[in-house]
Amino acid sequence: EKKREKYWMGAHELTVKLYQHVLLNTEEGKEAREYLENRGFDQNMIERFQLGFAPDSWDFLTSFLMRRNYDMDEMMEAGLLARREFDKKPFDRFRNRVMFPVWNRDGKAIGFTGRILGEGNPKYMNSPESSLFNKSRILYGFHLARPSIRKKNEAVLFEGNADVISSWRAGIDNGIAAMGTALTDRQVKMIKRNADKVLLCYDADDAGQNAAYKNAELLEKAGMTVRVAKMEEGLDPDDFIRQKGAERFRNEVIDSSLTYMGFKFRFFRKGINLQDEGNRIEYVEKVLQEISKLPRAVERDHYIRQLADEFNLSLDALKQELIQNFKARK
Ligand code: ATP
Ligand code: MN
Ligand code: MN
Ligand code: MN
Repeated sequence: EKKREKYWMGAHELTVKLYQHVLLNTEEGKEAREYLENRGFDQNMIERFQLGFAPDSWDFLTSFLMRRNYDMDEMMEAGLLARREFDKKPFDRFRNRVMFPVWNRDGKAIGFTGRILGEGNPKYMNSPESSLFNKSRILYGFHLARPSIRKKNEAVLFEGNADVISSWRAGIDNGIAAMGTALTDRQVKMIKRNADKVLLCYDADDAGQNAAYKNAELLEKAGMTVRVAKMEEGLDPDDFIRQKGAERFRNEVIDSSLTYMGFKFRFFRKGINLQDEGNRIEYVEKVLQEISKLPRAVERDHYIRQLADEFNLSLDALKQELIQNFKARK
């Protein structure tokens, strides 16, 4: 089984180089080069993240691997090639896509995610799940970010690979992404073995913020210190960097992140009208419930004061309520 995975990884390594060659040196790669240039992906980013291009062909990679005597069944199992329904013949799985290699923790390519040029469906296509490419164990960019994650004792977790790459250009070298939104226990462990802190930097849309909420809870439960970046409505980190620049990204997003509690307060406020008394009371109750879960009295006190100030409520009344209704420890 180890031998087989090595065989697959060798084929992936070769394919990474082939796709990169197409992107950088060929006429077929021109449109992709322009696409990446328009997105602000420069040569350094392309090299570090080994970006490439899969040309618009059914048999480009297939015949390349065949010429090198790769076993076609194995290549289909490995997910580099797909299998034609009616005669089981192999063909190129990825066509006309910008290719982002995905690596294991040793930095060996084990799969790809391919992005369509411009609009279209599906926007991203991943290698199929296999014994080698197991999304629940992968954190995109992990082997590149790991030295910095250890040094800073903090990982920055993004939603998309484009965010990892753009933010690296903006000076954030401890960025990683889960392939898909919900973190698995395995991924949490991978992070935890290397750092105590995580900064979540997710897209500003509902999907992104809901995922941030879920993942923050998971990481917090695993004993990590969690902060969450504030992202401007409608943007993701990559958009923000492109539109407003690296310096503003570091200052206004990364360095102005919220504590886990601060994020939760903001999260609960979304879509409610604080002018409305009923809404306001509901919000205060929700926040009190969160405060009651805090293990330390000084922390509870801090947030209760914050809540009292914010809504001009009596501190004593809030404390009373916390003890009575939420059975907080003293
Ligand atoms: P881009 O900036 O290139 O449009 P993004 O990273 O902002 O991409 P999102 O739509 O925010 O993309 O999605 C976040 C992540 O979710 C992607 O990076 C990708 O890993 C995954 N994803 C998005 N769409 C798909 C899809 N159709 N199939 C599989 N995974 C997807
Ligand atoms: Mn998104
Ligand atoms: Mn996004
Ligand atoms: Mn994006």
